[in-house]
Amino acid sequence: MSHDNLLDQALVRLDEAAAHLSIDPDVIEKLKYARETAKARLMIRMDDGSRKSFIAWRCRYDDTRGPTKGGIRFHPDSDVFEVETLAFWMTFKCAVMNLPYGGGKGAVRVDPRKLSKAELERLSRAYMQAFARVIGPNRDIPAPDVYTNAMIMGWMADEYAQIVGQTEPAVITGKPIALGGSLGRDDATARGGYYLVRHLAADLGLGQGARVAVQGFGNAGQHIATLLAADGHKIVAVSDSSGAIKCENGLNLQKLFAAKANGQSVSSTAGQDGHEVMSADDLVGVACDILAPSALENMIHEGNAAQVKAKIVLELANGPVTSEADAILEKNGIVVLPDILANAGGVTVSYFEWVQNRQGFYWTLDEIHDRLKTIVEREGRAIWNISREKNASMRTAAYVHALGRLAEAIEAHGTQSFFTS
Ligand code: NAD
Repeated sequence: MSHDNLLDQALVRLDEAAAHLSIDPDVIEKLKYARETAKARLMIRMDDGSRKSFIAWRCRYDDTRGPTKGGIRFHPDSDVFEVETLAFWMTFKCAVMNLPYGGGKGAVRVDPRKLSKAELERLSRAYMQAFARVIGPNRDIPAPDVYTNAMIMGWMADEYAQIVGQTEPAVITGKPIALGGSLGRDDATARGGYYLVRHLAADLGLGQGARVAVQGFGNAGQHIATLLAADGHKIVAVSDSSGAIKCENGLNLQKLFAAKANGQSVSSTAGQDGHEVMSADDLVGVACDILAPSALENMIHEGNAAQVKAKIVLELANGPVTSEADAILEKNGIVVLPDILANAGGVTVSYFEWVQNRQGFYWTLDEIHDRLKTIVEREGRAIWNISREKNASMRTAAYVHALGRLAEAIEAHGTQSFFTS
């Protein structure tokens, strides 16, 4: 899969938001391009004694509002276009939540499932060796993303400590708790989306016992299923990269978690507790109230958007809806809670981790949840109000909200009219 028009699609959203604001052209010129993208070949020793190289990137898209922040993805389809687009989204996501960060992102083109654990550790350390010069607690702070996890962050933090000669936990977030990770980081992405849905439920016309379909059953997908089910909502369908499963009366989540923990697909639970196999492609068209895309980008596109029956699309994945699909969903009256708001719980708790690492004083889980809830509700409500005032989609409203903050920061350095007046 190529992502060569992904950034162009993302920039369409920038233009749409700009049309609602009176901002200096400098702002658009600054936000149209990535500030810095480093590329490296990571050469590692494989278990069979051979050497193998993997291409990798780290992008710092914009750092006007603070050091860049964004995850590292290990995926066989990763490319520079995807990395830069994800970094662009991070720039806006951090601004949406008013975090003192710019946006960054990184990736290695690799299928980590084909590596041994020792090869994965060597690759993770090689990533930090290659990019330590652009990364740093005041410069660029990575975190986990698709197919990377807390242990990988721990290896990378350790490698960075060896390079700079001192422990520096604030260099990376999403670390294991024992290595300076924050409580509450594991389910933060889903929890942010969950607080958002709960806060806006009345405005969205969402009642008790909503029916939920979850696309992708990894970190974000499993946790949103848990949180919504605990509130009495029903998880009626879920998918992963190898299949999908449905049950009208609600899936047995414990069975699904057990299957994933054993390295099996959710579809392996077919036949148990009324679980029925379905095609992963059909998941977007399941009759439900909330559809939570929690896998990869471009999963809801021109070809399947008209099948969506949900009232609400909760974008836990980054960029799961293409701009063509967005128009179809809007026309059909479906409210999309956009990625830069809906999945921003992850970067917000990453920010809490960075703050705790820098102050050397750690918060309780209740403090983390309270602070996250306060921020999600404050920014979610502000975006809801913008969308009502401007009669715009929640996505456009989120971009307007973020762009206002980015513009203020960029314009604070002086604009053309300042220098020519
Ligand atoms: P993950 O690796 O834990 O899970 C990804 C899931 O998607 C897996 O279950 C995989 O099987 C599934 N998947 C892959 N291809 C699929 C397909 N074609 N159809 C259905 N399922 C498919 O990753 P994650 O951390 O949960 O991230 C998922 C999404 O959420 C990504 O877009 C990521 O950028 C975004 N996100 C994650 C975080 C976080 O903190 N983890 C934060 C913000 C955004």
